[in-house]
Amino acid sequence: MLLEIVKYGNPILDKKGKMVTEFSDTISVLYQNMLDTMYKEEGIGLAAQQVGLAIQFCVIDVPSHPEYPITSILDGQSLSPQLLMPMCLINPEIQFLPSDEYYYEEGCLSFPEIKGDVARPELISVQYQDLDGNPHKLECDGLLGRCIQHEVDHLNGILFTDRMEKDVFSGIKKEVQMLKKNTQSILKKQNNIK
Ligand code: ZN
Repeated sequence: MLLEIVKYGNPILDKKGKMVTEFSDTISVLYQNMLDTMYKEEGIGLAAQQVGLAIQFCVIDVPSHPEYPITSILDGQSLSPQLLMPMCLINPEIQFLPSDEYYYEEGCLSFPEIKGDVARPELISVQYQDLDGNPHKLECDGLLGRCIQHEVDHLNGILFTDRMEKDVFSGIKKEVQMLKKNTQSILKKQNNIK
């Protein structure tokens, strides 16, 4: 089932997600619905806040690219990231491993058509639970490491625009403000109907 993606300007995007404690069918259904929604919108990651739920849950499907290989080590074993995809992270916690930061142009399904460079560390380790509640530790880099950082930020109410440097943000400020205004006027109308 396709879900509606929440756009910037909706206050749920600023909310830190609650821990997931029940690993029932509800979360498996959410997983499938969020994946369907993400594929339809051609995204590579989607956080629960972006479908209106403030919980510690996100889905990811990062494509492989021959020129930009991704290294991934799951629970101490090196494996192809494609074997991990698609995946979800439940209650994730990121640790930054010693590495350089690099800039990369990011987009976000809650900010249609808006893109901007964000600096993030290359190498991370993330501890999380899977759909059955089993704990895992994943070390990764490249686009996967970046995507996980972007999504886990969402789970903590942090948006990619918050991470942009001033001069980058000033280039998209107008569009961002327009989007916020538009989202808020739609929300207002919906509340009036209720
Ligand atoms: Zn996003």
